[in-house]
Amino acid sequence: MAGLTDDFGRDLNYVRISVTDRCNYRCRYCMPPGGVEYLDHSEIMRYEEISFLCSVLRELGVRKVRFTGGEPLVRKGLVNFLKELNREYPDIKTALTTNGSLLGEYAEGLAEANLHSLNISLDTLDPVKFAEVTRLGEIDRVISGIRAAVKAGLKNIKLNTVLIRGFNDGEIGALLDFAKKEKVLLRLIEFMPLEDGVWSEDAFISGEEILRMLPDGDAWKAEKRGSELSGPAKYYTNERTGDSIGIITAVSNHFCKYCNRLRVSATGKLRTCLFAPDEIPMRHLLLDADREGLKKLILESIKDKPRCWNDVRTGHQQMSGIGG
Ligand code: SAM
Ligand code: SF4
Repeated sequence: MAGLTDDFGRDLNYVRISVTDRCNYRCRYCMPPGGVEYLDHSEIMRYEEISFLCSVLRELGVRKVRFTGGEPLVRKGLVNFLKELNREYPDIKTALTTNGSLLGEYAEGLAEANLHSLNISLDTLDPVKFAEVTRLGEIDRVISGIRAAVKAGLKNIKLNTVLIRGFNDGEIGALLDFAKKEKVLLRLIEFMPLEDGVWSEDAFISGEEILRMLPDGDAWKAEKRGSELSGPAKYYTNERTGDSIGIITAVSNHFCKYCNRLRVSATGKLRTCLFAPDEIPMRHLLLDADREGLKKLILESIKDKPRCWNDVRTGHQQMSGIGG
């Protein structure tokens, strides 16, 4: 089987696919207040195209696909699609990143679809601040969604918190307690100032500073797992309590050397780096189910995967559009 290895020797075995540009929230760091102008349905990849894409990626050696958005669970039929995908390609590990608001409805179906891992975004435990950061969200729905996911038996559930100075940096202890109580793993994420006008660079807190901010200071020791190969996440264990935490340093840490991921937008465009300005359209090949053409295009495109995002970053882009 041909592997997707780029010119810098990186094995690209992990792909994030956005299934929709739509979202039921308008998080302040991700979208403008009025939301983004939605694409027409005809511009979005149909499930059969996504399934075909996954089969081609699988042939190229990809073993893990994360579905994201926008909010993936607002797209109708996602759970059935994931069940189908799992039946057809049980060797592909599927993962989902969600704001958690619809998990109450879909957690059981996701467990039946054998979802391998679930990331739930939760930036604050304060209902007022939650409504403020998401603009449209209700925290109770997310908390009951997290509980529904655990109850459904979903594995590898992580809570992802974007840490923003002056907003939620005082809540680390409370979030750790909450994650422990709910039996999920907390990961603190460096804020990427992607969108002009909402929280600026001053709100950024580096991974190193986050580590210093953890309650119980020196007790946190780096774990062996979550090596460079797992991307930007680093894991720490508290020697005193046995608790774990992840810190995702997508901005400050140059994990590019070990970057194993590709991204595909909801419109079927390939992006070889989160910060690269170029997107490679694949939709025509997906619509024609042109297997060989698609393989050739992907293999050609990964040659241009930048060595490091510092080389290519051009400006501010929104995660909801890129498929974060
Ligand atoms: N709607 C889903 C969700 O919120 O989990 C999936 C899509 S969202 C774009 C994926 C992740 O990107 C979320 O965890 C969100 O917090 C993160 N994100 C969005 N904008 C960000 C930013 N400017 N800096 C850091 N993380 C960001
Ligand atoms: Fe929606 Fe996720 Fe962006 Fe929030 S971070 S606006 S939930 S896509």
